[in-house]
Amino acid sequence: MEDPHKITCQEAVELVTDYLENQLLPEIRMEFEQHIASCPGCTNYLHQMEQSIRLLRTLADDGIPAETQHKLLAAFRNSNNGNAVKTAPHHAADSPEDRRE
Ligand SMILES: [Zn+2]
Repeated sequence: MEDPHKITCQEAVELVTDYLENQLLPEIRMEFEQHIASCPGCTNYLHQMEQSIRLLRTLADDGIPAETQHKLLAAFRNSNNGNAVKTAPHHAADSPEDRRE
């Protein structure tokens, strides 16, 4: 029997961006925070998303339009959906593969 009042890791992962944007309902936010408090994997994921969003905000300062930011954010969400304990892939523009000699 599953406890209906507890959210799963997958649900927590899906809620991370809304949580960071303060778009969760208070009771969902509470359940999310309870899950985070007891789940190192999701805590780690939350921190990664925090950094990703901070990076997006930095890009925004460089003139990246909000629409592009939302697309990037959606890409982050999709690429990490259900992989709470996995390290988030870096989508930095200066990945080693792209570097020329
Ligand atoms: Zn979790």
